[in-house]
Amino acid sequence: MYDQSRELYDRALSVTPGGVNSPVRAAYPYPNFVGRGEGAHLIDVDGNRYVDYVMAYGPLLLGHTLPEEVEGAIQSQLSDGPMYGVPTEVEVELAEFIARHVPSVEQVRFVNSGTEATTSAVRLARGYTGRDDIVVMQGNYHGAQESTLVEGDDEERGPSSEGIPSAFAEHTIPVPFNDVEAVERVFEERGEDIAAVMLEPMLGNRGIVHPVDGYLERLRELTEEHGALLVFDEVMTGFRIGGLSCAQGAFGVEPDLTTFGKVIGGGFPVGAIGGSAAVMESFTPVGDVFQAGTFSGHPVTMTAGLETLRYAAENDVYDYLQGLGDELRSGLQDIVEDQAPEYTVVGRDSMFKVIFTREAPDTFEGHCEAGCRQQEACPRFDRCPKNGADVAAANTERWERIFYHEMRDRGIMLTTNQFEPQFLSYAHTEEDVENTLEAYKEAL
Ligand SMILES: *Cc1c(COP(=O)(O)O)cnc(C)c1O
Repeated sequence: MYDQSRELYDRALSVTPGGVNSPVRAAYPYPNFVGRGEGAHLIDVDGNRYVDYVMAYGPLLLGHTLPEEVEGAIQSQLSDGPMYGVPTEVEVELAEFIARHVPSVEQVRFVNSGTEATTSAVRLARGYTGRDDIVVMQGNYHGAQESTLVEGDDEERGPSSEGIPSAFAEHTIPVPFNDVEAVERVFEERGEDIAAVMLEPMLGNRGIVHPVDGYLERLRELTEEHGALLVFDEVMTGFRIGGLSCAQGAFGVEPDLTTFGKVIGGGFPVGAIGGSAAVMESFTPVGDVFQAGTFSGHPVTMTAGLETLRYAAENDVYDYLQGLGDELRSGLQDIVEDQAPEYTVVGRDSMFKVIFTREAPDTFEGHCEAGCRQQEACPRFDRCPKNGADVAAANTERWERIFYHEMRDRGIMLTTNQFEPQFLSYAHTEEDVENTLEAYKEAL
């Protein structure tokens, strides 16, 4: 059934470490190699067809088949030459689009990946404030960069990867998400040294975990009081949660800086940093915080991003995704209540996941019906995963060893692990959702 994939993986293992170009793609015992995408579906090299909920780990808001006008604009740009290294109109237009729709953003600097965006944002925050320390959330992911690959807590911590000098961990303080006291304590102890608090406003890379009521607001107050910047890493949530105003619009909290990536490249490599002109103009060539890139503002990427976002603005993309997402999440909730009451359905808008938590609630009355929103009034509030550690304490082995394969063999492609969320795209249909719920029913 997967012979070609196995053969390709065998070849890949000889020429690429672990056979993959990003470790999250490694599946047990080997990943499916893709032949092509079509709408919401993937067809692997052996000809098997799947409803795809990986969606390239987030970027593909419109699915695998681009609308004609989007594809046409990309091809037309490509025929004018791939790139120039001098400014183009399309990068101004995409920056204008983002600034118009995202409340906290006046200026944008484009880069080529989410990692580059968060690296530059950390440097900018440090340069702007003249301070060295940053506070991050345990289990957050800000890309493969030295300053945020740190694990531990405010008292004891170290790099979470080999090859990173421990000096980086001195200046990066991880705290648990949704824990107001923990971050208050850090500010009390070293408030004068903190350049920024950086976080995913909704944990996307460990979860999904919704912020509890008042948490983001409290971070906004604390950073302001202490002269630190609040940085929302919206590489995943940007233009996916909260529609065109992003997660910050959905939660009603304005950060000083925002990092973007994924969706804004329309399927091409991208990242961006956005914020007020006052902060952003600390970047070179105006200010003294160095930031540069040969491929930054790449015209093909900018065209793909701009046309994708325009398409979303002019069509019912976000309404459709929210409706379909609610249908899927509430369907999952019904199945879980019947078959696996200890599991938690999480997510909102076009993101979802079933976390294999271990404790069943006494009742489902008053429970969130289409994804955990961390509501205090919910009888289950104390048991819902609140942070990265809670998610990691779930039965992740069952997901990786059994459940993922059960779903794949039924034609549903999920991420190989419990930590990455699943994404819906504009190409997913009601029929896809019905088939997906059937598969969950059998596999859970
Ligand atoms: C994906 C992601 C990144 C890293 O982006 P890359 O383009 O993979 O470098 C950073 N932060 C968040 C929140 C992400 O989801």
